[in-house]
Amino acid sequence: MELCDLSAYEMSRMVRQREVSATEILHSCLERIARVDGRPGSLTPGEITEEDRQRVHAFLNVTGERALQQAQAIDQKIATGEDPGPLAGVPVAVKDLFCVKDTLTTAASRILSNFRAPYTATPVARMEAAGAVTIGKVNLDEFAYGSSNESSAYQPAPRNPWDTSRVPGGSSGGGAAAVAAGEAPLSIGTDTSGSIRQPAAFCGVVGLKPTYGRVSRYGLIAFASSIDSPGPIARDVTDTALMLQTIAGVDPADATSAAVPVDDYLAALEQGVKGMRIGLSPDYFRITFFDPETGEADQQPLPAEIEIAVRRAAEVLRGMGAEIIEDIPMPNTVYGIPAYFVVSRVEAASNLHRYDGVKYGVRTSEPVHDLRQMYRKSRGQGFGRQPKLRILMGMYVSAAQYSEQYYNRALKVRTLIRRDFDAVFDRTGQYRLDALLTPTTPTTAFPMGAVYGNSVLMQYADQLTVAANHAGVPAVSVPGGLDEQSLPIGIQFIGSDYSEAKILRIGRSYELGTQDEPWRGIKPSAVCV
Ligand code: GLN
Repeated sequence: MELCDLSAYEMSRMVRQREVSATEILHSCLERIARVDGRPGSLTPGEITEEDRQRVHAFLNVTGERALQQAQAIDQKIATGEDPGPLAGVPVAVKDLFCVKDTLTTAASRILSNFRAPYTATPVARMEAAGAVTIGKVNLDEFAYGSSNESSAYQPAPRNPWDTSRVPGGSSGGGAAAVAAGEAPLSIGTDTSGSIRQPAAFCGVVGLKPTYGRVSRYGLIAFASSIDSPGPIARDVTDTALMLQTIAGVDPADATSAAVPVDDYLAALEQGVKGMRIGLSPDYFRITFFDPETGEADQQPLPAEIEIAVRRAAEVLRGMGAEIIEDIPMPNTVYGIPAYFVVSRVEAASNLHRYDGVKYGVRTSEPVHDLRQMYRKSRGQGFGRQPKLRILMGMYVSAAQYSEQYYNRALKVRTLIRRDFDAVFDRTGQYRLDALLTPTTPTTAFPMGAVYGNSVLMQYADQLTVAANHAGVPAVSVPGGLDEQSLPIGIQFIGSDYSEAKILRIGRSYELGTQDEPWRGIKPSAVCV
């Protein structure tokens, strides 16, 4: 085991007890990056070689110099007897959607390829203040629009460390791949419809979408502002709790951040699940596609291996004292993707207005004869296919003559989805659940190129995660075994508002209950080369 394979919790403990220095840990992670990551994403990648196909390509930019200064500052604090904080010397890979001062912050888009952030996003600043070392920026789908990472303007795109012919998921796929491959123990991602949990599931790591407003969005490049949720990606539940502890909490710079007190997530972890009520819903064991022409619903079962993994997890938790309640009705889950399709496009189109070649980002270098042409050319050349599609669709469905039919209707559907959750978590209701247990994704990681190009199909990767975004409730994906092809399966715990401590505690119990299972000892193949 190399230093980079330790948990964040263990790294910080060892740094604080002077068993290892922050600089040594940083070097171990940098060595792992050098060994497995391959060349970083670039706007002019040239041909993808055989070697490229075997590397992870999580990083866009390894900020080694800045990281070294941070690590040395931590070691300095230790030397003078100062406590650097709970993340002392822990390297963090930052999704390139978060501003980091004086560092390129591209959103994986050509239009921001020259943007150096003038300040650091609150969650990143909070981790750094807690002793973390920002090791670099990781790749994502352009502006977080995707479920596979293939839409990044920067290629080679990240690959799944378990099988590099497959996608790591998206949009926080670079972060999930980096964590799975031991390049950093922690990554900060964002989840608008599943972008933390889905790649975490595909890469066999833990990913938590906090309650909306639990973590500040200040310094995050906006996608769909009413549902964007920054959150942790880590290799285990304890590290997830440790990281959430440092980033959660009200922020005067984000008016939507919540003034609700932050629980002690680590303290709650080991309290077990005895007496907890955990629900299984048939509405999460199938996937429903709507025919775009006729609106008819086509229901398909999930792959058996995924349903079996979830049911086995329920048995493990039952064995530890939880009560499992079957047949929980979540009838509006099927409308999650159609409603998201509308809401997310409207908000994305609105948020993309600011990229006009004037205030920040790339301006066309071609001659222009007026301001409008400068806007058009800058945006035409700077945006990739997904942002363009989303602007078109967002403008269309929010236009005055269509908004009743699409946008306002989607908002009503969101309310219905929220009511599903309110009903099952109601302390005086029929179900009184502490959490729902569901699969995270309808499939395990798909081959690169298999879904890319079909925006609708790509979107369905989020069918089991998006309802939590609409409702604003927290949800965590934890590794739940491997399928027949040795690809990770993710299982998800969804809780009520601000119940992060509870769902983490359930996740931790599940880890303990399965710690001796053989799949726990299997490592991603990219790490074994
Ligand atoms: N797959 C989603 C989309 O394409 C993105 C999800 C996210 O959470 N950013 O819109």
